[in-house]
Amino acid sequence: MKKNLRGRAAWLAAVMAMACTAILTVSAAQATNAVDKAVTSVTTVTTTTTSTTVTAAETTQTTTTTQSQTITTTKPQTTTTTQFQTTTTASQSTDPVTIQGAGKTLEAMYGDLSASTGGHEAIQARISGNTLTIDAYVNFKGAYSTKLEGKTYAALAKQGLRLWAGTYQGSRYDFEPGTSFTVQVHIYDIYDGAGARPGQNYFDFVCLAEYGRAFTFYGVGYYNRELLGLYKGAIPDKSYTNGAIGMYRGISGSYTAAQYVKVAAHEFGHVLGLGDLYRRGVASTQECPQGRKYAEGDIMGTHGHVTPNNIEMMLEAYTTGRYQAYVNSGLPEVKSKVIQSY
Ligand SMILES: [Zn+2]
Repeated sequence: MKKNLRGRAAWLAAVMAMACTAILTVSAAQATNAVDKAVTSVTTVTTTTTSTTVTAAETTQTTTTTQSQTITTTKPQTTTTTQFQTTTTASQSTDPVTIQGAGKTLEAMYGDLSASTGGHEAIQARISGNTLTIDAYVNFKGAYSTKLEGKTYAALAKQGLRLWAGTYQGSRYDFEPGTSFTVQVHIYDIYDGAGARPGQNYFDFVCLAEYGRAFTFYGVGYYNRELLGLYKGAIPDKSYTNGAIGMYRGISGSYTAAQYVKVAAHEFGHVLGLGDLYRRGVASTQECPQGRKYAEGDIMGTHGHVTPNNIEMMLEAYTTGRYQAYVNSGLPEVKSKVIQSY
């Protein structure tokens, strides 16, 4: 905890609400309001530099407006995954050299992660053989029992967190060629703090009944998993914990259930230590699809799914305690060393 306290000043300086699109129908006026609110809140604890960051994110959001209708052609996650795996397999069969990593387990590469796990963090992970298990301790707040297409916001949110689960294939960019592993997501959820395990941290998932852009309350460029779920009241007029996700009912129109799930999955990526991919000027690569099309993109882009690279970045954040960005930018972001395709 001493390390955390020392880092608190830096954390406060970096704190802001990381606003995210992931999906659609942005009204410029609406988005501006959301960001203005975030800036106002942050100003009391920080310097003006972070305001620039917010503005940059805001520009991003507005630009995504034109993509709004594509979401209706939703493909099931399983289909998406299959497409990706097929691509990977094809490249392996045409390049014998890439088989060199086959047989090495995820555990052989990363260990079991126990050295990086304190046992009380809101996000904990462990590896056994070729299975990565992510434990997410989440406290739902707000309108979590409101229903959308027959399911509560909380149920849809958990569906979103579980989009990170699946089977992933390595490639020359991610892990090693020939690597195949499974990710499981276990969710330990409580509501309004009731039934919390003593000593266990929980990050808030706040379901908001109003319109606005989803966000994860975090410092861009700064990541400390130990802090997830702590420091309530960091935004003066709110009681969100650090790492809290704020999900509105939609940006300017209500989300469909499928959209709600996707946005929740995107925000969960921030809780896992990943930055935003969208509007970073990065060309599409196999490793980091820009996310222009729903079925082909990256969950940290706009219309995407979880890729092997996302998992690799998550593991890097987990084992180093460092925020994983897609580019070196004017923001306090340093490009993740696990990105190799550009
Ligand atoms: Zn985001």
